[in-house]
Amino acid sequence: MLQEKPQAGEPLYIQLREEDNVAIIANQGGLHRGTEFACGLRLIEQIPQGHKVALADIAAGAAIKRYGEVIGHAAAPIAKGSWVKEALVVMPEPPSLTDLPKSRGLPPAQEPLEGFTFEGYRNADGSVGTRNILAISTSVQCVAGTVDFAIRRIREELLPKNPNVDDVMAVTHAYGCGVAINAPGAAVPIRTLQNLARNPNFGGEVMIVGLGCEKLQPELLLPEGMVSADMDDGDIVRMQDESLTGFGEIVDSIVAMADKRLQVLNLRRRETCPAADLVIGTQCGGSDAFSGVTANPAVGFAADLLVRAGATVMFSEVTEVRDAIHLLTPRAVNQDVADALIREMDWYDRYLQTGEADRSANTTPGNKKGGLSNIVEKAMGSVIKSGTSAISGVLSPGERVRDKGLIFAATPASDFICGTLQLASGMTLHVFTTGRGTPYGLAAAPVIKVSTRSDLTARWHDLIDLDAGTIATGKATLEDVGWELFHLILDVASGRKQTWSDKWGIHNSLALFNPGPVT
Ligand code: CA
Repeated sequence: MLQEKPQAGEPLYIQLREEDNVAIIANQGGLHRGTEFACGLRLIEQIPQGHKVALADIAAGAAIKRYGEVIGHAAAPIAKGSWVKEALVVMPEPPSLTDLPKSRGLPPAQEPLEGFTFEGYRNADGSVGTRNILAISTSVQCVAGTVDFAIRRIREELLPKNPNVDDVMAVTHAYGCGVAINAPGAAVPIRTLQNLARNPNFGGEVMIVGLGCEKLQPELLLPEGMVSADMDDGDIVRMQDESLTGFGEIVDSIVAMADKRLQVLNLRRRETCPAADLVIGTQCGGSDAFSGVTANPAVGFAADLLVRAGATVMFSEVTEVRDAIHLLTPRAVNQDVADALIREMDWYDRYLQTGEADRSANTTPGNKKGGLSNIVEKAMGSVIKSGTSAISGVLSPGERVRDKGLIFAATPASDFICGTLQLASGMTLHVFTTGRGTPYGLAAAPVIKVSTRSDLTARWHDLIDLDAGTIATGKATLEDVGWELFHLILDVASGRKQTWSDKWGIHNSLALFNPGPVT
């Protein structure tokens, strides 16, 4: 990062690459017209924090470069020292998917990182959880209120008797009825629900509550490899079952089913496991221009450490990857992985076309207020979360992870849908970066929130778990914060440290991705 040594109150801009002709203003509150930097650059208008300043005169139509990449072309001449506003940046076309470099110039294998462990819950299938939670799956929204009612009773009556169990949660959703169950798109929500039930944090104890008349029959939710013959009568409660009389008996049967599973889960104990057993999901939400400068590069640094330790790290959010795809296909470990990356981009291009939307719909008003002009600029800052490792695998939305190393798990960028799909893929801990600020949390896995700016961390001192803003102010290096995050991941995974969202119990709803029609 090219930046002048910061002094208290001294004006500071952050230029990422030598060839960039714009930089972002680092100072809190922005900088006034007439501000002069040590290098002689003088602002000819006021520029807010996180927004871009022109480092040179940029002619109309000329390329605007940040991250060493073209993030747009100038809509009009832009004078040196002026504010490069969103309206001045014409978005370029996304890279073509037909002639991308595949698996070329792979990053060299990094030195293995040994000796790092965490305390986890080892499961019969070899996976390792970071939490010990009973999850109650549901086949249709109709039963959600009843399951919530039963969970209140379970919390009150059964959890105190099973102190080794962290919590009980419902996997509720809006799917199940009124859906085109045989449409190709239905495969995504169905496998998501199947794989959610197998999340390592749930210890393999599956139970399902259904209604009875829904399109998505409870049997369809049985995790892959489990057939109804393997299930005993106690694995599914159907509310319409004629043997159940009244709400009281229905709730009793759910509570009784939970009781058996809680007794099994209560026998689980944490044991020392290598860091290689971690499955970490990364995403960003409420991004700003600092995301790609501070928090996301720190996550990328930690991702490299995790990959070196043999762990699985997922990055996602197709619309934030699409414009950087030419930077990712060369990193695919082989031709098949490169082709799978392209396949997911192409699928999503067509999905957006069907909805008559395009990738420009991704950037939010908050992103723009934070200085991000368009999705190209956002994408360049977003993919940095993936670090520098070779990409060893690709998952379609909701597929369960198979490989170790750095994995691209295709998901929408929506925070809740991405988190839900990463949980289905087997994520046991989530790392979430934010610039604008969001209280995001998940019941199924701890969420470590990393702030892009120190003033957000100061304001949200009881919501943000790690401040990466120190990288912009020069108080810490990227390496310092990356290592701090790596150690925090091991501590939170082990249950030694609690995240703020878990402390407050703020947990967002699960949200299924349903690209299929609703009838
Ligand atoms: Ca997101």
